[in-house]
Amino acid sequence: MFDVIIVGGGAAGFYAGIHIAERAPHAKIAIFERGKTVLSKVKVSGGGRCNVTHGEFSPRELSTNYPRGERELLGPFHNYAPMDVMAFFEERGVPLKIEEDGRVFPQSDSSQSIIDCLVGEAERLGITILRNSSVKQFEKNGEEWQVTTMNKHYHAKKLLLTTGSNPKIWEQLKAMGHTIVSPVPSLFTFNINDERINGIQGISAYVSAEIPPKRTFSSDKVQLNLKSAKKEEPVLQSEGPLLITHWGLSGPAILKLSAWGANILNKYNYAFRLNINWTPEYTTASMERLLRKIKEVEPKKTVLRTHAVELPRRLWAKLVHAARIKKDEKWADLTKEKLQNLAEQLTDSSFKVEGKSTFKEEFVTAGGVDLKEVDFRTFESKIIPNLYFAGEIINVDAITGGFNFQNAWTGAYLAAQAIASSE
Ligand SMILES: Cc1cc2nc3c(=O)[nH]c(=O)nc-3n(C[C@H](O)[C@H](O)[C@H](O)COP(=O)(O)OP(=O)(O)OC[C@H]3O[C@@H](n4cnc5c(N)ncnc54)[C@H](O)[C@@H]3O)c2cc1C
Repeated sequence: MFDVIIVGGGAAGFYAGIHIAERAPHAKIAIFERGKTVLSKVKVSGGGRCNVTHGEFSPRELSTNYPRGERELLGPFHNYAPMDVMAFFEERGVPLKIEEDGRVFPQSDSSQSIIDCLVGEAERLGITILRNSSVKQFEKNGEEWQVTTMNKHYHAKKLLLTTGSNPKIWEQLKAMGHTIVSPVPSLFTFNINDERINGIQGISAYVSAEIPPKRTFSSDKVQLNLKSAKKEEPVLQSEGPLLITHWGLSGPAILKLSAWGANILNKYNYAFRLNINWTPEYTTASMERLLRKIKEVEPKKTVLRTHAVELPRRLWAKLVHAARIKKDEKWADLTKEKLQNLAEQLTDSSFKVEGKSTFKEEFVTAGGVDLKEVDFRTFESKIIPNLYFAGEIINVDAITGGFNFQNAWTGAYLAAQAIASSE
């Protein structure tokens, strides 16, 4: 008989186990892991470096990085934040560093440092780690939990599920009365085959990007008609660096759209239109005025060779070409139509997105245990007493930058405090 069984030997499972053991040293704790190795996602995370958390120390600011969970995590982040996670690892001999963009990594640049720390601590605290132990079923017998693996039953007073995005566990929870929000991918890049970005992979620019409502682009013709008519409010918008890749577009501006748009883009079957303003400080109208001024001041220069706006040279050349302006065409010879074309390409380039790709292998799933059914002070189920959740099993996910792990650490810590205090 265990006091606590934790199902799932990932980030949330280990972090919770360690904190329960520290607060309740006599508690008998077991972690069940279906794989032969534990913490396998930590191992590959952050390109093998493990982006442990983010150097964002305002709980409110921190919570804005969660398309699902923003409101619910605010309270938990007031109680357990990135600073606490950093202190945890540093006090246990894993020095960390905050990189320029705010991402936090071990100084060793190796995720193995994080794994060694978590496994070492769990062993030191006497936690039973059962590898190759896939939990097939869990049920309540009176006040007690019965957890069943392939060939054995185990018993515990409290059950903590940290199984990440395992559909089978979600199915069981559904059968026990929980609502499960259907899983859909979050955090992905957009596949686009378009002459304007073909062959210039590696180029980046600071842009604003929008996805208009689907009905406005059921065909290109409709889109064109509507452009001259009234413009519809976009369903999603973002601003930030954008990266041109072999397959299409990536970078923070795109990843934000993919995370916030996880559900709607899934409904669109990942086929939709994306509008990019390559010069967010200008509207199409103000860009047109700027281009007219350049035409007045530099009539003899060729459009292609003019550095009209802050854009990488090769991207400028692609947009000039897309505006149907010839290589040697001078500003003086630009027709009104071509000038308008160029203003539009610069401020409202419309791309057809046809599918998605995984971002650096970092697949994150939106969906899971409905947020309304979790008590975010304790991470206990509001439906079934003595059942707790932490990590990706809950319908929480974040953009890239260490925020997904922070959700796992914070949930695990608070669940651990609640579990240990009733031991
Ligand atoms: C390639 C990659 C890179 C990433 N990089 C980062 C990053 O740098 N920073 C960041 O913040 N986030 C990153 N993420 C996201 C992050 O890894 C997850 O948000 C985080 O691992 C969630 O932790 P978790 O403990 O909830 O789930 P998981 O880490 O998925 O752990 C769940 C564990 O439960 C086990 N399990 C499942 N079902 C059962 C069962 N029935 N019985 C027993 N065991 C079971 C699984 O085998 C697994 O070990 C990355 C994700 C990927 C895929």
